[in-house]
Amino acid sequence: MADCLFCKIIAGEIPGKFAHQDDQLVAIADINPQAPLHLLIIPRRHIATLNDLTPGDDALVGAMQRTAAALAAQHGYSEHGYRTVFNTNRGAGQTVFHIHLHLLAGRGLGWPPG
Ligand code: 5GP
Ligand code: ZN
Repeated sequence: MADCLFCKIIAGEIPGKFAHQDDQLVAIADINPQAPLHLLIIPRRHIATLNDLTPGDDALVGAMQRTAAALAAQHGYSEHGYRTVFNTNRGAGQTVFHIHLHLLAGRGLGWPPG
């Protein structure tokens, strides 16, 4: 999509610090990290919000979660713990309308979240 920040990062038009790339997903470092580890797992295909998913996307979303777990493991957080979060629409804090899974680790993560 022409005007989408994450589509532009995936296309290499805007720089990103890539932690993972495969045929369907990328992971980049968040530009404004909220924890010592803060990565965004992003599908290459533009999907605006979780509300736009179809049953055909089930494997893609599963791959996003499994990639987050693998990246958490790579950084040594599997046992201690980490958090994965999708924000959906403005009321939940979504600011970039191309779905992305936040992976946060490395500090105390309170519950309930803000
Ligand atoms: P949201 O608020 O939509 O759940 O998450 C969007 C995330 O994208 C935020 O955590 C924000 O810091 C991050 N972000 C915004 N602009 C950029 C950018 O240009 N590059 C990177 N790497 N992250 C960004
Ligand atoms: Zn996009």
